[in-house]
Amino acid sequence: MQFRNFKMVDYVVYGRGAFNQVDEIIAPHRKGDFPMIFFLDHFFEGKPLASRVPLRGKDKIVFVDVTYEPKTTQVDAIAAELKAAFGEVSGIVGIGGGSTLDLAKAVALMMKNPGSSADYQGWDLVKQAGVYKVGIPTLSGTGAEVSRTTVLTGPTRKLGMNSDFTPFDQIVLDPELTKDAPANQRFYTGMDCYIHCIESLEGTFLNEFSKSYGEKALELCRKVFVEKNTWDEECDDQLMMASYAGGMSIAYSQVGVAHAVSYGLSYLLGTKHGIGNCIVMNHLEEYYPAGVKEFKHMVAKNNIDIPVGICANLSEEQFDAMINVSLGMKPLWENALGKDWEQIMTREKLRALYNKL
Ligand code: NAD
Ligand code: ZN
Repeated sequence: MQFRNFKMVDYVVYGRGAFNQVDEIIAPHRKGDFPMIFFLDHFFEGKPLASRVPLRGKDKIVFVDVTYEPKTTQVDAIAAELKAAFGEVSGIVGIGGGSTLDLAKAVALMMKNPGSSADYQGWDLVKQAGVYKVGIPTLSGTGAEVSRTTVLTGPTRKLGMNSDFTPFDQIVLDPELTKDAPANQRFYTGMDCYIHCIESLEGTFLNEFSKSYGEKALELCRKVFVEKNTWDEECDDQLMMASYAGGMSIAYSQVGVAHAVSYGLSYLLGTKHGIGNCIVMNHLEEYYPAGVKEFKHMVAKNNIDIPVGICANLSEEQFDAMINVSLGMKPLWENALGKDWEQIMTREKLRALYNKL
């Protein structure tokens, strides 16, 4: 038996107001007068957080448009611009939701690796460490702050640059930064974490390491979305730790059916990760009966709309494209359904599931 020896984030700071320590934390990582580049989610343009970014020398804020999830073309273009403008940079600091964090990780890697980020979509294809990179989440749930991947949509697939060089060198977990997230978005991204827990805990890859983190994350999600009646600071604090623990849980296991199906939606229709997972989870009673029941309760309790009928007008070719992307996620299916998953999840069965969404 070969156990996975995985690389983790090097440094973690957690606490309300921890953002104020960023200047001090990154100082030793400055290389001469090469700049630190801060990727700030475009939501924060003109907001107080933008003026709190600790700029020095040639440092620059790049407001990143996350209307669509990160693409390999976008990563390549930003890396090329930075190389043209500065030659080298001291590091990249991503401040935002999962999309901004992924963009920061990918660009940091592409500052030191030749070619296109599309060449590195897969497992362990990245060969050189990138530049110093810091992740500062402003939405809680994806676990992108702890994961060893950065999910990119490329010319032929949606797949991460999954490698030991991908995790952040430093993360700054400051729950205060999540306070202005709209309720729907907070729920969709928070459910990403809830679904990570269900898929990990119900999966065949589960071990005690994953279970310990998954159970804790699930408990925190329940405190926030089931027990509380109004959102407060404690909810932001708890959901940020749920995201971290949920990410740690899947580091040693894998996600499952909701993610495998949601990847197809995202590839074809551009459906965003959090909401896509919710759209799928709504129809997964057969695979996760207790989790889906609780999910529906949380949707109702938090007054959230989950879109329905998004596959209503698709052609057979489009269904085929989604099915191909989804069935390509082999480790996810194996985790969810076991080694014989191909006998269980046939194309017909998956076609029927997409039809319901
Ligand atoms: P997101 O980063 O796509 O952001 C969603 C929206 O929320 C955007 O409009 C953004 O501007 C806004 N936003 C962000 N922070 C805000 C705040 N504090 N207040 C108000 N608005 C705010 O959303 P997400 O759900 O965090 O991330 C989804 C992305 O993460 C997808 O691209 C997905 O592929 C990726 N992902 C990566 C991993 C990983 O391990 N690398 C895991 C899961 C998901
Ligand atoms: Zn996810």
